[in-house]
Amino acid sequence: MSSATDSPAADVPIAPEKMGPEATAADARAITEAARETQWDRPSFAKGLYLGSFDINLVHPWPEAQPDDIERGEAFMARLTEYCKTMSGRVIERDAKIPDEYIAGLSELGVFGMKIPREYGGLGLSLVYYGRALALMGSVHPSLGALLSAHQSIGVPEPVKVFGTPEQKRGYLPRCAAGAITAFLLTEPDVGSDPARMGSTAVPSDDGGSYILDGVKLWTTNGVIAELVVVMAVVPAHTDANGTSHKGGITAFVVEMNSPGITVENRNAFMGLRGIENGVTRFHQVRVPAANRLGREGQGLKIALTTLNTGRLSIPALCVASGRWSLKIAREWSNARTQWGRPVGKHEAVGKKIAFIAASAFALDAVFELSAELADSGQKDVRIEAALAKLWSTEISCRIADELVQIRGGRGFETADSLRARGERAVAAEQQLRDLRINRIFEGSSEIMRLLIAREAVDAHLAAAGDLASAEASLSDKARAAVGASGFYAKWLPKLVAGAGMDPRSYGEFGRLAKQLRFVERSSRRLARQTFYGMGRWQAKLEHKQAFLGRIVDIGAELFAMAASCSRAEMILRTTPERGGSAYELAEAFCEQARVRVDEYFDQLWRNTDDGDHEVSRRVLAGDYEWLEAGVLDQSEGTGPWIADATPGASSRENLHRKYR
Ligand SMILES: Cc1cc2nc3c(=O)[nH]c(=O)nc-3n(C[C@H](O)[C@H](O)[C@H](O)COP(=O)(O)OP(=O)(O)OC[C@H]3O[C@@H](n4cnc5c(N)ncnc54)[C@H](O)[C@@H]3O)c2cc1C
Repeated sequence: MSSATDSPAADVPIAPEKMGPEATAADARAITEAARETQWDRPSFAKGLYLGSFDINLVHPWPEAQPDDIERGEAFMARLTEYCKTMSGRVIERDAKIPDEYIAGLSELGVFGMKIPREYGGLGLSLVYYGRALALMGSVHPSLGALLSAHQSIGVPEPVKVFGTPEQKRGYLPRCAAGAITAFLLTEPDVGSDPARMGSTAVPSDDGGSYILDGVKLWTTNGVIAELVVVMAVVPAHTDANGTSHKGGITAFVVEMNSPGITVENRNAFMGLRGIENGVTRFHQVRVPAANRLGREGQGLKIALTTLNTGRLSIPALCVASGRWSLKIAREWSNARTQWGRPVGKHEAVGKKIAFIAASAFALDAVFELSAELADSGQKDVRIEAALAKLWSTEISCRIADELVQIRGGRGFETADSLRARGERAVAAEQQLRDLRINRIFEGSSEIMRLLIAREAVDAHLAAAGDLASAEASLSDKARAAVGASGFYAKWLPKLVAGAGMDPRSYGEFGRLAKQLRFVERSSRRLARQTFYGMGRWQAKLEHKQAFLGRIVDIGAELFAMAASCSRAEMILRTTPERGGSAYELAEAFCEQARVRVDEYFDQLWRNTDDGDHEVSRRVLAGDYEWLEAGVLDQSEGTGPWIADATPGASSRENLHRKYR
């Protein structure tokens, strides 16, 4: 059993009693800042991109996996593929449930322990193969992807693997590998992107042997069937029996779902992912042994964010599947369907969409595989790459899904069951659009991802500028910081003027893709210069220029995807020469398309409607344009409050938790 130790100040940036509905923006910032990993011990390719130092050698030659990982990974994929062929995504969609026998079959294959080390009964797969397995299962039905990634990327196994004590590892990991489904419970009705508002509490017992957990957790993926869950709750400041005072703070606990006092009050239903077992879970006076606490008191959010550093790659892996499937359907359908005398794919308007899907599918693959290989090799810091992969892949795959619906015309809007019922191929294009949409919201919404990446990406700028960019600093602090920073910038800025991208011989080993990499190099320096100008112009207010920062982040994301695509094409040419030509074509097509987007973002940095939009949104929120809303009936009025009451207390609802094995 791990004994309680006093929490370091960094774990508890604001007093636990300040958390909850009264938490301010400064509290939210302080809590997220404290949970950030601030060390950069290993090189980061993406961070360099934002600082004008594009180093292709960090992502080229393509990182090579260990032969043993490949051998075990391929053998597993072969078994999994056979099993996946026996499952039906249509059954999951129709019943809005993953059948228990599918879960049993997957469990037998060891799927619930894919990422768990072999010494604890797992398969010990690399991130690359874990992602490929998710993609394969996601192609049967994305709810399978959600089940597995909620369990393994954020559920019990990963935080226990990284932060657990030896006893916790021995206790939980073999259970998880053997099929005990788990979940991760952070969100509450009043806590979405802002953990400072957390209302769930875990009060230590007098003897220090346990905590009493109270609160309501919302949107718990797997929560309806989970056997074990990770719960985030606020431990109040307290003094233990030995007289040691503890600061408390947001803390992570592993909780057995059969503990008395837990009620799954609702099974939530969504526009997509119809098979997920997502619930509202109420904890009322639930006794959790102190031995179940993960890490220190106050370390919960750090555990959550660290888990997500590479855990975020599961969603890009699932996006890879959607890119591949969309390409297949677009190709087959656009050849088969003839209108106005030609297959629809031969009309330019449709052809452009097909080209977009093909090029983006190649880049989706490159972005996931590169990030995962880098993470597996362990030599590079992939925090920013994984975050960029999550942001970029979810945005572009939604665009792909939307274009596929358009290419399919009326059939794109029709459900697979309806198509089948009237004798046509059951292509679930509308379902894909619905299923993918949530990826831009959960595990960090796109807006939050942009803030998070901007924070990391301009870290060096902020560090150099010090108080210049701190909202709290006094004017004299800022003046002092400006003097210090000007020394840094005096040395750094000239480096951003010239680089390899201006020499037509650079990156020659990439053949026709060399010019794309030269563009990336030039754009990386331009990006750093523009960030610097933004800092100079807005200083401490830069933090609030979300539209500006968002474009900075999006430019970096496209540049990362371009570099990944070029490196992957070069690797394919070297290892599978017969595909080299077409890989180069796709990489080039992607880079050309991405360049148009990059140029648009650069242009919009300084030519935009941000200020006007700010004013319009202010007036909308003030109700100045309410007259424009007349003439419609809002059927949601009177149906309930915007945010459900989450006052702690006993449940009056039926417990919907169910056993699946
Ligand atoms: C199907 C599904 C499964 C989920 N699974 C889980 C799970 O397993 N475990 C879990 O803990 N949670 C889960 N969630 C919750 C999910 O992670 C949250 O929905 C997500 O964190 C966003 O929070 P929110 O929905 O409350 O949005 P809010 O935080 O209320 O945000 C509303 C909007 O404002 C934007 N916004 C918020 N703050 C800012 C800001 N500072 N700057 C700019 N924009 C901002 C957001 O991007 C969003 O567009 C799930 C949700 C769903 C729908």
